[in-house]
Amino acid sequence: MIGGILVYAETIDSKIHPISFELLGKAREIAEKLGLEVWSVIMGFNIREHARDLIYYGADKVYVYDDESLKDFDVVMYKDVLVKLVREIEPEIFLVGATPLGRSLAPRVAAALDTGLTADCIDLQVDDEGNLIQIRPAFTGNILAHIKTMSKPIMSTIRYKVMSMPTRDENRSGEIVVKDPPKKIDTGIRILGRISRRAVNITDAEVIVSAGRGLKKREDLKMLEELANLLGGVLGASRPLVDEGWITKDHQVGFSGNTVKPRLYIACGISGSPQHLAGMRDSQIIVAINADPSAPIFRYADYGVVGDLYEVVPKLISMIKRVKGVGGS
Ligand SMILES: Cc1cc2nc3c(=O)[nH]c(=O)nc-3n(C[C@H](O)[C@H](O)[C@H](O)COP(=O)(O)OP(=O)(O)OC[C@H]3O[C@@H](n4cnc5c(N)ncnc54)[C@H](O)[C@@H]3O)c2cc1C
Repeated sequence: MIGGILVYAETIDSKIHPISFELLGKAREIAEKLGLEVWSVIMGFNIREHARDLIYYGADKVYVYDDESLKDFDVVMYKDVLVKLVREIEPEIFLVGATPLGRSLAPRVAAALDTGLTADCIDLQVDDEGNLIQIRPAFTGNILAHIKTMSKPIMSTIRYKVMSMPTRDENRSGEIVVKDPPKKIDTGIRILGRISRRAVNITDAEVIVSAGRGLKKREDLKMLEELANLLGGVLGASRPLVDEGWITKDHQVGFSGNTVKPRLYIACGISGSPQHLAGMRDSQIIVAINADPSAPIFRYADYGVVGDLYEVVPKLISMIKRVKGVGGS
């Protein structure tokens, strides 16, 4: 029997989180190297119709648990289902997204299975001996640790937006295995409702204008927000601004914030610390505006503007307005 790499397909409001497709793409690449199949598991309520999408993105076999008892994310129920499935199908590798949900679920599954878990990976590779190498930042992002796990299954959580999105191929075929729903048990968890939604979805933004400590006061964020709005983007920030309480953590880019991969990232008054770079270095085009020509961010920027952001940004804003024919300037 051919072994497999299992990918947890996360759902939000009965829709598949895009990280699941990114993981399938990576799993496919590793599976080819190791002679394994790619399996996926999806659970929730009214999610059965999505199983085929997982095949189109690279799964050979999809295990489906579709039941009203799984409508809300009850971490204990979800953990029990996954532990039972892993014991039954014995994957070699089990990948979960390092989303808030995945970060809560994966360690519980790993503990129940008595196996290791490498959290927050930014890449997976296969070495010459066929070992899976899990790569993740260590020492606050200053080095990249290469980790081998000896226990099975090898479990990793992978950050959103660090792997490429594979191409959807509707000609791919695969098997869908509908599993019996789990027995409803009282886990002691009651979902009373959702009290917070993210103020901004920075991880999916195509354009991000980010503010750093080069900004002199909180009110000046409005200037960068105007630039972001003109470009159809959102406002990002380095951590010190979040620590100061100038902006919420939803906007934070970096090691302890969000990993982003927009088409355009404009860093304004950001030095380019390893912790900030960890969250944005894979952006398609990076523009840095910084008064200090030796700022590390310039080493990663496609376009660098050495100058005072208080002069450069207003000029950019009026230029864009002129081109777009808005605001009369
Ligand atoms: C465990 C840990 C996790 C961390 N996680 C994160 C994280 O997720 N994200 C993150 O961002 N940081 C994180 N940090 C903090 C990180 O180490 C840096 O301190 C932070 O990124 C610096 O932010 P900054 O670039 O805005 O500020 P600074 O490093 O102070 O840089 C400010 C820049 O602005 C420029 N400047 C000043 N005035 C102007 C002006 N008028 N016009 C143009 N340029 C100007 C300066 O030349 C300078 O380069 C973390 C640190 C630790 C220890």
